[in-house]
Amino acid sequence: MLDLVLPLQCGGCGAPATRWCDACAGELIVAPDEPHLISPRVDPQVPVFALGRYAGARRRAILGVKEHGRGDLVAPLACALATGVHRLLVWGMVDAPLTIVPAPTRRLAARRRGGDPVTRIATAAVAGHPEIGVVPALRMRALARDSVGLGTAARERNLAGRVVLRGRPPRTDVLVVDDIVTTGATARESARVLTAAGLRVTAVLALAAA
Ligand SMILES: [Zn+2]
Repeated sequence: MLDLVLPLQCGGCGAPATRWCDACAGELIVAPDEPHLISPRVDPQVPVFALGRYAGARRRAILGVKEHGRGDLVAPLACALATGVHRLLVWGMVDAPLTIVPAPTRRLAARRRGGDPVTRIATAAVAGHPEIGVVPALRMRALARDSVGLGTAARERNLAGRVVLRGRPPRTDVLVVDDIVTTGATARESARVLTAAGLRVTAVLALAAA
């Protein structure tokens, strides 16, 4: 139905007559030495990996899913995430059985955007892997402001004590997945809360590092 009313445009570069062009697909390819280990300013105390920089087609695809309702871009991002998770398994950074816990977003924000994008992308990425599940085990208390535009210290203050468990915690090792790691504050608070609940957080994997 949407095809009838929306002009068909690449979600990465705006090229006409395609939803996702070959050039943009090329930008999301996960090279053999990726995901890269990164060092956010706030140390989450677990290894943090990113599939690439928050720029170009990757940035526009993430924004497309989060802000512009481009559900069709979940698939290419999920494909890249699946490759990233596979590499971490091969490298022995994580072990199966494994539970992916999406980093929390403000619930209101997620609802407004049609469901939490990270959960959707992660679920699509590991579909068909019986040993890897996705459990949205964290939520952000309503007090937390959207962190856009906040500096490192302000982000940490904004998050302190506001990431909380929801539901029953998973029983396996955990890989925290986030869309964009900026300061590392969300990753650290997520890992801290999960660890305090007795879980082993083996790594954080982000779709992009800002
Ligand atoms: Zn494109």
